[in-house]
Amino acid sequence: MNIILLGPPGAGKGTQAQRLVERHGMRQLSTGDMLRAAVKAGTPTGLEAKAVMERGELVSDAIVSALIGDELDAMGADTGAIFDGYPRTEAQARSLDEILAARGRKLDHVIELGVDEDALVERITGRYTCATCGKGYHDTFEQPKVPGTCDKCGGTEFKRRPDDNAETVRTRMAEYRAKTAPILPFYEAQGIVSKVDGMAEMDAVTDALESILAN
Ligand SMILES: [Zn+2]
Repeated sequence: MNIILLGPPGAGKGTQAQRLVERHGMRQLSTGDMLRAAVKAGTPTGLEAKAVMERGELVSDAIVSALIGDELDAMGADTGAIFDGYPRTEAQARSLDEILAARGRKLDHVIELGVDEDALVERITGRYTCATCGKGYHDTFEQPKVPGTCDKCGGTEFKRRPDDNAETVRTRMAEYRAKTAPILPFYEAQGIVSKVDGMAEMDAVTDALESILAN
């Protein structure tokens, strides 16, 4: 089973990918992580990528394809892949199909964790944490039992992350749409796109993913 998991920041994609890794022994293939690992390990592809980056250039599609190929070759044939952050363009999507086909694999599902943008803004901008112990709270969903006092440590100072604001969330959503817009039609034409409600409870999202994978 090889899948692409899509979802904007805040949709819980990282958590869901981690669960698939734990439950099904799948491997999450993030191009950024693969690149860093290959450079560190000094593989031929890693050395090539390092030279490109040292010249201040972007790593080409050919290098990324080679990285993915290396990674798939190193995985057991029964180990499924979760692609994360790749492909971003239709050319990369076609290339991924070829990389997989050359190894007797295919892409089974492209799953998008959908979000309601306004609800996502509320979810993210309402977050805050105890400045002392780091316990997380939310303006709407999880206030301390005694207002202004941390349930866990009794602290009275709280903090918010500066990028947990509506403008940043909406900018990230726009960036996400721009990144996925080029590839979704390509996969929709193959009939392998499924959408899951990323705003649902985490366990319900996991159940929805599992039922897609079971088909
Ligand atoms: Zn605390």
